[in-house]
Amino acid sequence: MYRFNMYHRNLRALAIQCLVLSCVVLGASTTFARSPTAAEIEKVLAEAHSKFKGVKDGANADYIPALAEVDPELFGISLVTPDGRVYDVGNSDYTFSIQSISKAFIAATVIENQGTQNMMDKIGVDATGQPFNSIKAIEMIDERSVNPLVNAGAIATVSMVQGDNPEAKWATIAGSLDAFAGRKLPVMEDVYASEAATNGRNQAIAKLLAAYGRLYDDVGVSVDLYTRQCSVGVTSHDLAVMAGTLAAGGKNPVTGKQVISAENVPEVLAIMATAGLYDDSGIWLYNVGLPAKSGVGGGIVAVSPGDYGIAAFSPRVDAAGNSVRAQLAIEYIVERLGGNIFE
Ligand code: GLU
Repeated sequence: MYRFNMYHRNLRALAIQCLVLSCVVLGASTTFARSPTAAEIEKVLAEAHSKFKGVKDGANADYIPALAEVDPELFGISLVTPDGRVYDVGNSDYTFSIQSISKAFIAATVIENQGTQNMMDKIGVDATGQPFNSIKAIEMIDERSVNPLVNAGAIATVSMVQGDNPEAKWATIAGSLDAFAGRKLPVMEDVYASEAATNGRNQAIAKLLAAYGRLYDDVGVSVDLYTRQCSVGVTSHDLAVMAGTLAAGGKNPVTGKQVISAENVPEVLAIMATAGLYDDSGIWLYNVGLPAKSGVGGGIVAVSPGDYGIAAFSPRVDAAGNSVRAQLAIEYIVERLGGNIFE
């Protein structure tokens, strides 16, 4: 019975991912649904900012003490088109910690360097339907690490990063995030210290994965590199360029550098579509129709393949860990500019 259920669960997952992949591929061959002008994009971004800047729902994540200290009123939105035009509104130059958004880009790097099959075999690419830091999901699901966008899969993904020692692995991680953003990104040492002092749960996750043979480097090294990766500082402008790189087939639209090959982008977007907004990923995809990734620091990136990368930041998050204002703003903008991959 168990094997039967697993077989059907895997078939269902495969069917969903085929659907998402074909939509992504179809989306990539189209242009802006409504071909908005620069003035229209600026207007819609400004509208979203003014419409949602008064929303006070949610609260700063506080399980990482440094995140609780960020001004909850900060609100920035940025959008980048594949020709490298960047649109910013609000606090788009404020530096905050990237947190889980980094997971999508490090997953992209590991897929690029080690192949899509390795990601499938060694981590998994299925949604958990569980919170981002779930230990239950590790116990319940045979793949254990499950997918690279939840903590278990992300720590396992970091453990796969190539490099003979922690410094070499960090150079790969930091270099990859920098290439997606098109500039050297800082590490926010206060956030890193704050999370390193309080990340017992992630250490437990890594130990459990190691016990199941699903961690591919030392527990301490993997958790430390993962914590440092989550503490990288970005602005909404940076995040939009990072998302814009995925929207432009892996080529950074501002620097012109091919960061990952175009053929690997659909797999990255498929994982973002099914698991990018934690246990609310289905609701997000239903409402917005874009592959995306959020972080408990208050950022969200979303990708409209061929059309634009968009990012929003505001620190108050909902129960699932997703920024309330960022979700509202991106949904509003996508509805007006078009680009929903299911349209
Ligand atoms: N560094 C955070 C953690 O591991 C990332 C969580 C998130 O942004 O979802 O808890």
